[in-house]
Amino acid sequence: MQIANNKVVTVTYRLQANLPAEEKRHIETADASQPLKFLYGVGMMIPGFERGLEGKGVGDAFDFTIQATDAYGDADETAVISLPIDIFKVEDVIDFEILKIGNVLPMSDNQGNVLNGRVLGYDDTTVKMDFNHPLAGHTLHFAGEIVEVREATEEEITHGHVH
Ligand SMILES: [Zn+2]
Repeated sequence: MQIANNKVVTVTYRLQANLPAEEKRHIETADASQPLKFLYGVGMMIPGFERGLEGKGVGDAFDFTIQATDAYGDADETAVISLPIDIFKVEDVIDFEILKIGNVLPMSDNQGNVLNGRVLGYDDTTVKMDFNHPLAGHTLHFAGEIVEVREATEEEITHGHVH
């Protein structure tokens, strides 16, 4: 069976991207003990990843490079925001431990949505945070193997995810 829309696909992979050392932890791998399983063709994966797997079958290996525009997009400079340092106060004291450069903190916007922001730095009054996806702006290289391909059930297709 070949990978196509509405198939449930299981793969193992290694992702490589040229990230600075402190960002390396954002790099994911899916090995045999924790493979990635997903419903193909419903937009859950980045577009370049699905395109690289199309038509492949069980046991096939893959090895491809995806430009940022087909992955997590280009980094958006408007997603880099300075916030008042006071919002990081806990009982009137700024918690500098959580403001370490590179720390990812869940922040909520005016609508109550939680957005992950990365600490870029701070001064006396503001904290500069980057709300871009950590892999935004990066070329990604994936190498791996197709472990399983099966038909999705009616229910999985309706729900848009794997059960
Ligand atoms: Zn469901």
